[in-house]
Amino acid sequence: MKLTAYGKTDVGLMRCNNEDSFYLDEKLGLFIVADGMGGHAAGEIASNMAVEAIRDLFATPLSKQASGDRLQALLADATNQANRAISRAGIEHPPWAGMGTTLTILLFCGQQALLTHVGDSRLYRWSNQQLEQLSDDHTLIADQLRRGAISHEESDKSNLRNILLQAVGVSEKLDICQKNLPAREGDCFLLCSDGLTDMLSQEKISAILADNPPPQLGCEELIAQALAAGGKDNVTAVLVKVDKL
Ligand code: CA
Repeated sequence: MKLTAYGKTDVGLMRCNNEDSFYLDEKLGLFIVADGMGGHAAGEIASNMAVEAIRDLFATPLSKQASGDRLQALLADATNQANRAISRAGIEHPPWAGMGTTLTILLFCGQQALLTHVGDSRLYRWSNQQLEQLSDDHTLIADQLRRGAISHEESDKSNLRNILLQAVGVSEKLDICQKNLPAREGDCFLLCSDGLTDMLSQEKISAILADNPPPQLGCEELIAQALAAGGKDNVTAVLVKVDKL
């Protein structure tokens, strides 16, 4: 499989520090976005710890030969370990108390794309000129929408949009979303933090990806448009193109 990827993060126009972290390794087929939260720069620490926990997993020889199912189990274990480690760090260092992070991981294995996800960062797939959100949002609003308790219109206007139901480092027990998707030649995957999706509609994201830009240009355009739309939060985008299966 041949992948081309690029990632970029920007502090945005309203925040003093950037609490998002991302990682990409084209050769390994591993891509991560984490969006931290917490005062005293704790959000940065939490998102970094989560990314490091996943990177560490791939430093072990075991993970390099594992099957898709086994890798999913290892990724879930590593996410649960990060949950405990971040929570512990907050207890041991009181200024960091309550810190947490979203965590969205895309791993290619054979001809499959494996998703492991907690929080409201997102994974999208651009395929056949269609943008599809593959990750669930673990937010109060998304949950109310799924249960039919509110309409799409109400959810768009709600000021409760950013309330998370779970985050790594905060939740006692995580309900990790994992999916196993077929990867197809020509597909383009986008991992991003809510600083992108709160600023740009799916239509705007689609319009950028429809031009089939190389990942670097695509990322730069996505972030430039999120900043032009207000840049209210840290913005992170990682674009991955499946050049060849
Ligand atoms: Ca954010």
